[in-house]
Amino acid sequence: MPVGNSIREALTGGRFCYIVELVASQLTREAKLLDVAVRLSQVPGVVGAGITSYAGGAMGHDPVRVGTAARARGLTPNIHITCVNKDRHTIRRELEDLIALGIENVFAITGDYPKGLDAANIASPYDLDSVQLVEFINELREAGHPFYISAAVSPFKYTEADCAYQYLKLEKKIAAGADWAITQLGYDSRKFRELKRYMDERGLHVPLFGNVYVLPAKAAQRMSKGEPPGCWVAPELVERIQEETQQSTDKGLAARLERAAKMVAIVRGLGYAGAYLGGDHQADRIRWIIKRSEELAPRWEELAEEISYAPKDAFYMYEGPRPPKKKRGFWLRLADLGEPANTPRFLRGLLTAAYRWIDRRPALARAFERAELSFKEPVFGCKACGNCVLGLTEYVCPMTCPKNLRNGPCGGTLNGQCEVFPDRACVWVNVYERAKAADRVEDLKVFIPARNRALEGTSSYINYFLNRDSRPEHPVRLVQIGPAPAAKPEPDATLVPK
Ligand code: SF4
Repeated sequence: MPVGNSIREALTGGRFCYIVELVASQLTREAKLLDVAVRLSQVPGVVGAGITSYAGGAMGHDPVRVGTAARARGLTPNIHITCVNKDRHTIRRELEDLIALGIENVFAITGDYPKGLDAANIASPYDLDSVQLVEFINELREAGHPFYISAAVSPFKYTEADCAYQYLKLEKKIAAGADWAITQLGYDSRKFRELKRYMDERGLHVPLFGNVYVLPAKAAQRMSKGEPPGCWVAPELVERIQEETQQSTDKGLAARLERAAKMVAIVRGLGYAGAYLGGDHQADRIRWIIKRSEELAPRWEELAEEISYAPKDAFYMYEGPRPPKKKRGFWLRLADLGEPANTPRFLRGLLTAAYRWIDRRPALARAFERAELSFKEPVFGCKACGNCVLGLTEYVCPMTCPKNLRNGPCGGTLNGQCEVFPDRACVWVNVYERAKAADRVEDLKVFIPARNRALEGTSSYINYFLNRDSRPEHPVRLVQIGPAPAAKPEPDATLVPK
């Protein structure tokens, strides 16, 4: 085991512990953050700090720089790596910086959509999704770099599709190499319990951290409107926090620290491996929360009853009947027949020869690609990525997701609506509903690798039959893209199959 990684040591040792989030936003002076790091490193039970990047969709300080400085002050960093505004080469460079600095802990997340971008009129600022990012880091680990990977999961989703897909995606992240997981924030013990049960039932024994956010009134109000994306606070809780704020001389501070301590006691009682503390990083308050949570520990079940804020008619996986599945339409059944993966064996050889013949004639190949697009664009919203996975995503094109995700929804959905376009349903809701109608929900666990971008604008049929595209049976390994280029990203022609 590598020496000096207190997070890895605490988690592999099974010791309940704490990680405190340091938001490296532009609003916080870096010197102040580092002063905080010194103090936190002296709090018993705190084994590290989560160093955020792009929190709430806004640029902050460089998390690698802040993390390195925090480590020099005795606090082990867990660096947030997002997929926002970066292609695979830039991410590779960031990971190589971490390798050079000897930083092992990374939190691999998709990241909030950048604020202020005109999403309807620009290309997606995402190249990889969080599952592909975990896979990428794991590939580097297999090449000898000892990354310790954490991944996010949000149990606080209150429609079936949203909730089930979050859990399916967590399974994918674990299969791709995530060592431990951290929940999104929420104030619903039944959801904390649900997630733990889901993992236990499936033998997913990776350490799980419960997010405990010290929630002041203003943040509660913002979160009740889904801001930042993925965070949600019930109106009853907002009201209660407002009362606490107005009726006390300390503006509700004691009440919110007490609530945080109760939540720590609850996640500990439920068998979580630790608490991820956010919203306050003052060492004396963190120390108080930890101590108080220990006093409250014997009462955790009663406290779980108290902290259970959820919307009306909320979906819970193990409570109440599941909504019935919808009927699978004729067109979807027809689409199954036309799916290249379902091509009968006797036709495969024939089609491969025909596509090879077309491919050798560039003008014909271009005409074929245009014909393919003229059909797939109006029907599926196809963007000619050249690596078609429609058959794996229930004929919903992943390129229609504003983040271009391929492995399921981000954590930003709110009641099934998209983080980027709140007036639209998240595209993955449709994927889930259709998979459920076809009894294929388990198939959604299949890892879909990053697309080979060198194939953009080419025929996906030709690429499929000539085995050039990137898909589950023929994945490309991101680690083999070679050293990160200095300036303009190279095309991905160097991607090679596993
Ligand atoms: S479509 Fe779904 S996964 Fe894509 S950005 Fe919107 S909420 Fe996130």
